[in-house]
Amino acid sequence: MLPYKIIEQKASGAELSPAEIADFINAYTSGDIPDYQMSALLMAIFIQGMSTDETVALTRVMLESGERMDFSGAPGFVADKHSTGGVGDKVSILLAPILAVLDIHIPMISGRGLGHSGGTLDKLESIPGFNVNLDLDTWRELVIGEHVGLIGQTGNICPADKKLYSLRDVTATVRSIPLISASIMSKKIAEGIQGLVLDVKTGNGAFMQTVAESQALAKSLVSIGKGYGIKTTALITDMNQPLGSAIGNWFEMKESVIGLQGNGPVDLMEVTYALGAEILQMADPNLSTSEAFAMQAKTVADGSAYEKLLKVTELQGGDPKVLENLESYPQAKYSETIHAERSGHLAHIDTMALGFAGIQLGAGRKIITDEIDYSSGMYITCRLGDKINSGDELLTLHSNDGSALKDVASQMSQCFTVFDDAPTVPPLIVERIN
Ligand code: URA
Repeated sequence: MLPYKIIEQKASGAELSPAEIADFINAYTSGDIPDYQMSALLMAIFIQGMSTDETVALTRVMLESGERMDFSGAPGFVADKHSTGGVGDKVSILLAPILAVLDIHIPMISGRGLGHSGGTLDKLESIPGFNVNLDLDTWRELVIGEHVGLIGQTGNICPADKKLYSLRDVTATVRSIPLISASIMSKKIAEGIQGLVLDVKTGNGAFMQTVAESQALAKSLVSIGKGYGIKTTALITDMNQPLGSAIGNWFEMKESVIGLQGNGPVDLMEVTYALGAEILQMADPNLSTSEAFAMQAKTVADGSAYEKLLKVTELQGGDPKVLENLESYPQAKYSETIHAERSGHLAHIDTMALGFAGIQLGAGRKIITDEIDYSSGMYITCRLGDKINSGDELLTLHSNDGSALKDVASQMSQCFTVFDDAPTVPPLIVERIN
């Protein structure tokens, strides 16, 4: 195989055969193709797209790059949830313990930050000691014993996605239906699950900005899942503003804990329960949606979901004390609050710009080897449609990098548009694709 020829073929819009895709991805995973050639092929795919057959072949080779779990002996329904990526999206951290308490087994393989969007692994790693690189036996024991284990791609499970994911994060090659489909579905199929709910984000803070693009992504994900015999549904949910108030790794971890303690933001809890209801109804088709919501709310009200997060944190090497005493966490040295420049109604938030601002503050990576500053990020204190007075607080930025903070602060007022008239605020749950 000549990598150059395959890159050229895709760049000129030709379809690649399953063997060409497999040869290229396998050679990249084993280190025989360098990052620069893989980046070139990713960009060619990003620009030219892939046919359904190519997407299925890419998913298969990424899946087969590592091991595949078998939970067929598990005493309960084995399922997972995955998001296509947004800003402030910390749903997985709430939903995994909630469902675990309700006897769903969750072998969750998550990702790190990707492009402007945050990643569950980085958020979990903001807890000192939390280990997302468990060996497969330990992970399996956690899933069977505690009903939940939270890991990332490793050298053994989805190694192709591990490498491709980090490369896509920094090469602007994320926003592609075939690349997102193969990345997500290779991880989910490898988990050995029976049920999957996908949170396909739509709007200006999502990779798919229009509902039509999000529908196409949702259909691609659902059809791959069903092709592998997994009960799969997708909810298209709004990402024209951050989910909840917190953006940035520790801030999001903290907001998740507050959510599990019963004081979470309304939008965050609604999306969490809606996605959880899909899984609970897959496990028990006789359950009504309102019953599924109530069961989840009970795990929050009685503290059992919060206790489960503490327990899993401890079993994965993390320090649960920071979760029990949220204010003990180290704070960033610098902060700055952004205020409204005029009165009216908040009509538009540039959500993607907030995600990229988070990276500049230190909450994400500019290059693969960057270290994350877990204490950096922001809190947004306004919602679309809010009545705003000039001078009202909109957002507070936090960082340990004073000059980055100044830079970001100077751009922030452009992220908020205030009009005289009240805007139409998009619904939180846009559509269900099954
Ligand atoms: N989540 C993933 O795991 N992969 C993507 O490409 C996007 C979101």
